Amino acid sequence: MQIDRVELADCTSPERIIAEILRQVPDLPTPVPIEELATAVGITAIHRMTTDNFEGGLITQPERRDGVILVNGKANRLRQRYTIGHELGHYLISAHQPGDSGQFACSKSDMNIRKADRDNRSQRMEAEANRFSAGILMPVIKFKTDMRAQGGPDLRHVVDLAAKYDVSKEATAIHYSTYHHDLCAILLSQNGTLRRIYKPTRFPFVEARIGTPLPHNSLSARHQTDGVESDDVDRGVWLANLHRPSSIREQALNLANGWKMTLLVVDDSDDDGEDELRDTFDVWENPRFPGKSRRR
Ligand SMILES: [Zn+2]
Repeated sequence: MQIDRVELADCTSPERIIAEILRQVPDLPTPVPIEELATAVGITAIHRMTTDNFEGGLITQPERRDGVILVNGKANRLRQRYTIGHELGHYLISAHQPGDSGQFACSKSDMNIRKADRDNRSQRMEAEANRFSAGILMPVIKFKTDMRAQGGPDLRHVVDLAAKYDVSKEATAIHYSTYHHDLCAILLSQNGTLRRIYKPTRFPFVEARIGTPLPHNSLSARHQTDGVESDDVDRGVWLANLHRPSSIREQALNLANGWKMTLLVVDDSDDDGEDELRDTFDVWENPRFPGKSRRR
């Protein structure tokens, strides 16, 4: 794989860097050979470390002559792939410069930052590195083509895509809910407690809150079996009620260690704009900022 870094240097956003890489390597395989890609842009070594102190690190110079990526070797293989993508993001986005320590050291929670306050530079860098990692591991044009071929939203498709792109089910779920042509949200819960909500901003406000039990009358609250289960549930179980009776589609899938994935699908035509007024908060949350919502 050959990549001309001079062309990359003019690209400032994660999306432009990814587009330039795909322009230069149009036949980039799936799953993306992330370590080979790293070598092609000047990463001379990827070291697996046994540490609890960080998830990933990058040793480089301000002008990025070359770089060494450090990865938490205790993390699972998919997490390591994501971390390499994240550090590669810091390396290729030339505006990213480390803090006082002089090197990039990224924690597990840094890997979950998807949105940042405009004036929080380090948070913004982490969010951009994550956008780069997800975007290079799951190039959007290919990913959208795959989703279209699969048809309507379904958690089985999320599982298939995670295997195809060799990324975690959670990273795939974020991409899936963001880019699917149908309006859907994916929620993660552990042992019956809601932990994360991923949804595009045009998806209606989800009433259930992070850190609270799954709604007792939801399919997810009662779903125990292996495999995917689907049902139409009353809209009010998860979302604000419209004035007329209405239902949404819910799907549930049990994952490992008590985790469960929930898919909610609303019919676009069901929404008469009433939710727009209520949905003043973006409900994407992450473990680093429990319970904190940001205004859209
Ligand atoms: Zn980072």
